[in-house]
Amino acid sequence: MKKIAILGITGSIGTSACDVIREHSDEFEIVLASANRNLKKALNISQEFKIPQLVIIDESQKIDNKLFDSNTNIYYGQNELKNILQSLNCDIVLNAISGSAGLVYTIIVLERGIKLALANKESLIMAGHLIKEIQKRTKAELIPVDSEHSAILQAINETDLEQVKSLIITASGGPFRTLPLTDFRKISIKESLSHPTWEMGAKITIDSATMMNKGLEVIEAHWLFEKKYEDLKAVIHPQSIIHSFVEFIDGSIIAQLGFPSMKLPILYSFSHPQRFKSNISSTNILDLPNLSFEEIDKERYPLFFITVEAGKLGGLFPTIINAANEAAVSLFLNDQISFLQIYQLVNQVIQATENIANPDIETIIEINSQIYDNTKKEYRKILKIENLIFYI
Ligand code: NDP
Repeated sequence: MKKIAILGITGSIGTSACDVIREHSDEFEIVLASANRNLKKALNISQEFKIPQLVIIDESQKIDNKLFDSNTNIYYGQNELKNILQSLNCDIVLNAISGSAGLVYTIIVLERGIKLALANKESLIMAGHLIKEIQKRTKAELIPVDSEHSAILQAINETDLEQVKSLIITASGGPFRTLPLTDFRKISIKESLSHPTWEMGAKITIDSATMMNKGLEVIEAHWLFEKKYEDLKAVIHPQSIIHSFVEFIDGSIIAQLGFPSMKLPILYSFSHPQRFKSNISSTNILDLPNLSFEEIDKERYPLFFITVEAGKLGGLFPTIINAANEAAVSLFLNDQISFLQIYQLVNQVIQATENIANPDIETIIEINSQIYDNTKKEYRKILKIENLIFYI
């Protein structure tokens, strides 16, 4: 029986992970779970899976443990989760926390040499250079959960990375792939949250509509598979059947495919390097739609291009663009800015900020919250003023 900790158990990935574990209850047991605020859902899950320890990050959710009948010990706050992770006896941690908040836990888990199933791509975006150094030092397994990166891992299999020529990540194109550009100013929150092929949390669904997500995934692939940016490509594939291609030095290309579901990459991240028998995904080749591919259009998806550029520049830029985007998406979801202003705001912030090469973890965490807070507070000013400089 493998012992698993699931961070972000109440979210979209956390819920799919519970489905995977339900199907494999003889292989896995959950020994720790965490959520931010959704105490009710977290408690229901804890009761079903008999999870001994649950951490709720938001301390304002605190309730008296005596008020409910449960064998789960509940703790509150970020420090409790950090402390528990420092000494937890477990085989795998799934980091399915959304956003930059996930980084600190990624570092603790890898430092301890525990296998990390990583859905929280922000960890690699912000601190890829540090994470790779820790992982190499502790030899902890780092298995991607993102379907595109799971596809790459599956296609590469045991092949030496030097025999991989390029990686081609696919993108659905989101809900506005064919919308006339003149209609972009009218895009609503509801329309942005209706993804054509994937069901995901709100933040990543908006990032898929702007294609910020694909830019982040290119950076994620750069760190995971140690490939130069010129060897990383992304193409639009509206059917979301092929999740990535790997091109080898002899010209052969291997792709991984299946109907869109996060359960398979989650299961693979748990079972890797093996595969477990499962009914969670079945793809009848004769049921597949026609598969098509398109270039990513610069005018329609400018965030993709500036995000990849930030990745190439490295240093603090990936953290800055990610923090500005987290703030912009939150402002959009609160109806404070329009869909088009997400790009404008992120672009203004990145243009107005100076870079620092090779940042340490303290700087990354500090700048991340500084940029996030500034962008949220000053968004009106930033959207109007051209030459605003953030001093960091
Ligand atoms: P959700 O928004 O659905 O869930 C996020 C989870 O993280 C919830 O459990 C939430 O708790 C918790 N959480 C939120 N804020 C904090 C915080 N500050 N500290 C600790 N925990 C927090 O996100 P998704 O499941 O969609 O995505 C999770 C991660 O996986 C993201 O990094 C995303 O990019 C990545 N990913 C997601 C995919 C998907 O299909 N959804 C696909 C590939 C990658 P609560 O519910 O209490 O708020």
